[in-house]
Amino acid sequence: MKVLPRTEFGDPILRKRAKAVSRAYLKSAAFKKLVKEMIYTMRRVHGVGLAAPQIGQSLQLAVIETRPSEFRPKLKKKGPIVVVNPKILSYGKEEAKDWEGCLSFEGVRGRVPRPREITVAYTNEKGEKIVEKAKGLWARIFQHEIDHLNGLTYVDRMEDTKSLMTLGEFEKRVLKK
Ligand code: ZN
Repeated sequence: MKVLPRTEFGDPILRKRAKAVSRAYLKSAAFKKLVKEMIYTMRRVHGVGLAAPQIGQSLQLAVIETRPSEFRPKLKKKGPIVVVNPKILSYGKEEAKDWEGCLSFEGVRGRVPRPREITVAYTNEKGEKIVEKAKGLWARIFQHEIDHLNGLTYVDRMEDTKSLMTLGEFEKRVLKK
């Protein structure tokens, strides 16, 4: 399987609202193949989420998975899940600030405030409707990926762009602390 080529910040596809996935497409072999390739790509590039616009497809589709890796040894294994036509139903009141990066903007990290908990509705790869309450990192990834489906990036969510730093500085100043 090949790692899918990715779009980067500046590509207009990352600024568009992605199109809804139809029932017919969800049942197609093309959809199954795309989902497989997206999960494979996410793993190969050490991501915890990947949205379809990031691989050049303007579709309301994302994959999410956390698992321990060389880069994040403490992460718990969760997923992968396939998120189709998602909608955030409600946000918790409490907010958390944490570091984010993006596979479409490599080598950069920034601190992003987001609600700590969300309730999200989506369709999975089997066509089942799911309503899920997510919190912590899992909720953060959901929000980051759903933003991609609405033409937004994490930089748009930052309160203070002064925290933006290169991966080298991030490793030196944040990870080693
Ligand atoms: Zn991203």
